[in-house]
Amino acid sequence: MTDRVVVVGAGIGGLVAALGLACRGLDVTLLDRAAEPGGKMREVEVAGRRLDAGPTVFTMRWVLDAVFAGAGTRLEDHLTLQPATILARHAWPDGSRLDMFADLERTADAVQAFAGAREAAGFRAFTAQARAIYATLEAPFIRGQRPTMTGLVRSAGFTEMWRTRPFDTLWSALSQHFADPRLRQLFGRYATYCGSSPFLAPATLMLVAHVEREGVWMVEGGMHRVAAALATLAAARGVTVRMGADVAEVLVSRGRAAGVRLRNGEQIEASAVVVNADPAALSAGLLGAAARGAVPPLPPAERSLSALTWAAVARTEGFPLHRHTVFFSGDYAAEFAALRRGGLPVQPTTYVCAGDRDDGCAAPDGPERLLILVNAPATGDTRAPTETEIAECRDRTFSHLTQAGLRLTDMQAMTTGPAEFHSLFPGTGGALYGPAVHGATATFKRPGSRTRVPGLYLAGGGTHPGAGVPMAALSGGLAAESLMQDLASTRPSRPAAMPGGTWTRSATTGSTASR
Ligand SMILES: Cc1cc2nc3c(=O)[nH]c(=O)nc-3n(C[C@H](O)[C@H](O)[C@H](O)COP(=O)(O)OP(=O)(O)OC[C@H]3O[C@@H](n4cnc5c(N)ncnc54)[C@H](O)[C@@H]3O)c2cc1C
Repeated sequence: MTDRVVVVGAGIGGLVAALGLACRGLDVTLLDRAAEPGGKMREVEVAGRRLDAGPTVFTMRWVLDAVFAGAGTRLEDHLTLQPATILARHAWPDGSRLDMFADLERTADAVQAFAGAREAAGFRAFTAQARAIYATLEAPFIRGQRPTMTGLVRSAGFTEMWRTRPFDTLWSALSQHFADPRLRQLFGRYATYCGSSPFLAPATLMLVAHVEREGVWMVEGGMHRVAAALATLAAARGVTVRMGADVAEVLVSRGRAAGVRLRNGEQIEASAVVVNADPAALSAGLLGAAARGAVPPLPPAERSLSALTWAAVARTEGFPLHRHTVFFSGDYAAEFAALRRGGLPVQPTTYVCAGDRDDGCAAPDGPERLLILVNAPATGDTRAPTETEIAECRDRTFSHLTQAGLRLTDMQAMTTGPAEFHSLFPGTGGALYGPAVHGATATFKRPGSRTRVPGLYLAGGGTHPGAGVPMAALSGGLAAESLMQDLASTRPSRPAAMPGGTWTRSATTGSTASR
């Protein structure tokens, strides 16, 4: 007899949780309503070509190295990763440009040439502070089960915690390091990696800059390959992966999670359930009334940002795109004020991922694959942007790119906005990163892996330690850890079987999945 666990959602957090649990001998069934694993790490088809329509910046490689190692294999046996020497290219409306490099000294030189010696000194001080904050928080916060502020103060010490600057905003801290508003904008943008505003996020989030400095990796074939590789490995380690399996309800019996019911009526019993859908889906009752109280509800005002994206295939000319290029708006404060009011920005900062380009920035012959992204409010379920508003935002975005010198021709594009993200990721309004990290205490309100319903666990970007591929992966590991601990505390002994693997066609819809 092995314990059966159902994991709802094959996003990165669900994949990592399922793999970890199967490797510890549990009988794991991984269910996802989508046709392919990966969740937000998804691919779409445009002009007959497949391209990433989700995450594009891969950091904290050590997280996935550990996931593969925990499954008895090596990441490099499944994926080909190249480190980027240029982290990203940045451009402003005044025509100025700045590249960030993996190499610190090269970046400091670039900042000096861009804005002078004082700003280069500010950059060095900022980098040192970001590194120190990361060092303070890595073990107790990033790798730890949901900590409390008091717990952190106890483990890291009051002075060290104070130095992580939870009570200052990121923007105010940046103003101390940089006089040049363009550099504040550049480093303030790291708050958006958690779907937050640099004007409201705590200065602690400078640690994101450190994470990026530690290494950005380019995944051969695109980020979606990461999900595909994990799903294949999970199946090989015994996980039953069923795509097209829409979970309607988490079953609760005698106060404990007892399995799930699919939308087609099929029931799967289990001794524990891990939910990788956004926790907001649980609190909204989208996974049944019995599990509704498992986590506190997230008020829409506390949601992180959504996005308006164009997955495109186009010919490009005129601007030397890097793999990651950011075209900043002229007024960052106005941009975030508009988002806060629930509108699309008038002058959107625009991120362009040119996925066919390598570190040398060479453009492919002919049309290339692009993901173009601007921030949007998470109003997909309340007051989603209208078609006219989206068309106007598109026109402003593309004319902003044209003014920067980037000409896009022969373009075919697929638009995805807050409403589409909301329907892909129910309960969210299109928020892509769980709750926003606004204020000193927001991060501690994020649910941990355990819920109020025994036997029901959470994994994913809406959960501690936070959003982004590596953080969601870490949460998957934390969910598996909590579940195993709880199982061990309720069973005197249990076998460590390693069941044979299948990756089946869905009984629900018969859609995708192979072995
Ligand atoms: C456009 C975009 C750009 C991004 N850029 C980056 C980046 O560059 N770098 C980075 O690190 N991160 C980035 N992110 C964030 C990152 O992608 C996410 O934080 C991470 O992938 C979330 O993983 P997750 O484990 O929370 O699962 P999710 O990806 O949210 O997947 C959840 C899964 O649950 C499934 N599900 C939901 N409800 C049900 C149900 N009832 N039944 C069955 N299945 C269900 C869904 O179908 C989905 O597959 C980006 C995200 C987006 C959308």
